[in-house]
Amino acid sequence: MQEASKKEAQRIGYAMVGGLIIGLIIHSTGQAHYVNYIKPIGTVFINLLKMVIVPLVFSSIYMSMTNLGTPEALGSMGRKAVGYYFATTVIAVFFGLILVNIINPGIGADLGTAGLQELSGDMATKVSEQKGLYETILGVMINAIPTNPAEALAGANILQIIVFAIFMGIVALYTKEKSQAITNVMASLEEMSLFLTHGIMKFAPIGIFVLMLDVMAKSGTSAIVSLSKYILTVVLGLSLHAVFLTIVASARLKKSPLHILKGVSAPLLTAFSTSSSAATLPITMTAVEENLGVRRDTAKFVLPLGATINMDGTALYESVAAIFIAQAYGIDLGLGQQVIIFMTASLAAIGAAAIPGAGLITMSIVLGAVGLPLEGIGLILAVDRLLDMFRTTVNVFGDAVGTIVVDSFLSEKEVQG
Ligand code: ASP
Repeated sequence: MQEASKKEAQRIGYAMVGGLIIGLIIHSTGQAHYVNYIKPIGTVFINLLKMVIVPLVFSSIYMSMTNLGTPEALGSMGRKAVGYYFATTVIAVFFGLILVNIINPGIGADLGTAGLQELSGDMATKVSEQKGLYETILGVMINAIPTNPAEALAGANILQIIVFAIFMGIVALYTKEKSQAITNVMASLEEMSLFLTHGIMKFAPIGIFVLMLDVMAKSGTSAIVSLSKYILTVVLGLSLHAVFLTIVASARLKKSPLHILKGVSAPLLTAFSTSSSAATLPITMTAVEENLGVRRDTAKFVLPLGATINMDGTALYESVAAIFIAQAYGIDLGLGQQVIIFMTASLAAIGAAAIPGAGLITMSIVLGAVGLPLEGIGLILAVDRLLDMFRTTVNVFGDAVGTIVVDSFLSEKEVQG
């Protein structure tokens, strides 16, 4: 790991801990509203990251296509990536289900004191509009093809941008000379986007400090206490999965677990404080390449795809939350229904957008599949922001480990550099 990125990660770490402690102090004084004066700094940081996503994803997917040389090479990489996503998501849900059945956080939970909140406004609309599993997965597949690429770019629809860039990249392979002008532009755009990402990273410590301060100062500690067993189950499950991912990465890269964790510390801390895999993407891309030696063409393709469809943390979270809700309502779920939760949670995570709170909305798919009350979401609403931080961190870690694993399975011939 380079000295500069080590220092950068350290600074981000200090900023996060500082924000956490000062935020808690402000919370205890009851003066959280003052944080609103500096909150825009955190929003500016997230906006800067979002600003770079579209040019970075479009140009890097296009360039990885043209560098790979053949559509077959992309196919091979794609198959390995999707195989990894699927396997690890299923394992994550498995961890979640085992733990929630051992700890039983919902048994005896009082719906009144556990913070049952009425679903209202935007949240209630989003939950009620959430489609069933079949429609959601079909929708993800059909809508992945942009009918208007300009709209996809303008709306920052990452999956559509990926698909369009792949098509353009394939065309470029067949029309080398004629497409050279665009390829040159894309190469420049990619370099410029990466340069910009490095610049934005300099701003990360202050952005992350403010984001953490804001969340901690405003978080309701009473809900945290009454839902502590549930929080513990989710965090324990996520930690277990993170350990599993670390072992996998360490084995494939033949490096120590510490080396892996240090290498991805900047994206993990950013994921924790932004709760968005998409916003973290530019930082994840630079970290796996520069600190963990993943070949650029692998990272360029596998990471944007992973950020969009691979969400181990969200899948685990949804399975635990669904069983918790059933337990709290005193509904006895048999093995068959737990299997349905196992499957729907794995798939619902694919449909979740890489933005804060998205997992809570696709939760309704899981609840609906086994006939649990949608209002149950109100039970976990109070601590969702907090748990989103943890699950997003695992989502991003899963994506990073995915690139390491896929890269390790690709030959020199399949990926050049
Ligand atoms: N915030 C998560 C992410 O961006 C998605 C979720 O809400 O679970 O990865």
